[in-house]
Amino acid sequence: MAGLYIHIPFCKQACSYCDFYFLTRQQLREPFVEALVREIHSYTDTPFSSEPISSVYLGGGTPSLLNEKQLTGIFTALDSVFDLQPLEITMELNPDDVTADYLNMIRGIGINRASMGVQSFDEDILNFMHRAHNRNEALKALELLQKTDFPAFTADLIYGNPGQDLEMLKADIEQLLVFDPPHISAYSLTVEPNTRLGRQVELGRINPPDDEEVAAHFELVQESLHRAGIVQYEVSNFSKPGKEALHNSNYWTHQNYLGLGPSAHSFWWSSNEAKRWKNRSDIRHYLEKPAQESIDEVEQLNLTTLAEERIMLGLRTVKGISVKNLREKYQYSLSRKQQNWIENQVEKRMLVFEEERLALTPEGLRISDMLVVDLLNRG
Ligand code: SF4
Repeated sequence: MAGLYIHIPFCKQACSYCDFYFLTRQQLREPFVEALVREIHSYTDTPFSSEPISSVYLGGGTPSLLNEKQLTGIFTALDSVFDLQPLEITMELNPDDVTADYLNMIRGIGINRASMGVQSFDEDILNFMHRAHNRNEALKALELLQKTDFPAFTADLIYGNPGQDLEMLKADIEQLLVFDPPHISAYSLTVEPNTRLGRQVELGRINPPDDEEVAAHFELVQESLHRAGIVQYEVSNFSKPGKEALHNSNYWTHQNYLGLGPSAHSFWWSSNEAKRWKNRSDIRHYLEKPAQESIDEVEQLNLTTLAEERIMLGLRTVKGISVKNLREKYQYSLSRKQQNWIENQVEKRMLVFEEERLALTPEGLRISDMLVVDLLNRG
């Protein structure tokens, strides 16, 4: 089973922290949909079209800027080319686009999971982020999701914002929990160089919180959601039991996926190797050239690279990684140095290692990046 990711590269305005590929000019939406349909058809009768598709994810950008006709056109094309057997079809929505009619329309098209870009309910933080929505729109969108009884939904939160103290974060979390979300993704604000935030930090106009403050935020998120029965299953992802996101879980376990639209990434196995590639982040090129010419940044991945990546992704999940699977699928065995390091971390309660499965504890997950680097450096 494989996944499909579709990148819709339009946004109403640029959020200050965002370095995804998007455009704020809306005139190209219609030609983009036509080019996307052409790209979908370019995969007719290829190995990609014969593998059953278990998840579809519409991300961006802002997919909720597309109307019914455009979405229907995309799904009709997907249906005619791919072997769609999707258990999960997720669509990212921005709160300011959501109405009851829109939710009913996307449900009718087959979307069964909504991903709401809330980020915060605090007006000052939303302004700082330069989000297009305000607090009331976020509340209304979540209320509508509940009222229309959407099959599954998730909401994004961003913590570690400049000027955000623990009380403000607590208020955001409590407000979100009022809507009883089955799933929450919580990310710490990252300062990317080519963004408005990045430039302001560089000029010294904004001071992001230090590591200790961010760690305290992360701990508060972990504990508050845990108390509400929304359990961490990956560093940034929390869900009620059985409501984990299928599409993202497939990324972490190296399932095949195909990315469509400018800047979308793909990953595909062929025997003992895999290939990763990216569509160019260039709408003009995407509109004017044949779909296959959109591809660049092709990377051939051998088993050692894949094993290391699998360790990195797997250790970010509560399930962890199976050492047996590393041996059998990736021909990767732990070195003596790695085994000693693991014993040491188990004593420090950062790791558990039982029945050939290695996983970080909640404490370990707080410093997962550092621990993963430490482990891989001993390979
Ligand atoms: S809406 Fe999402 S993709 Fe668009 S600028 Fe904001 S964060 Fe980036």
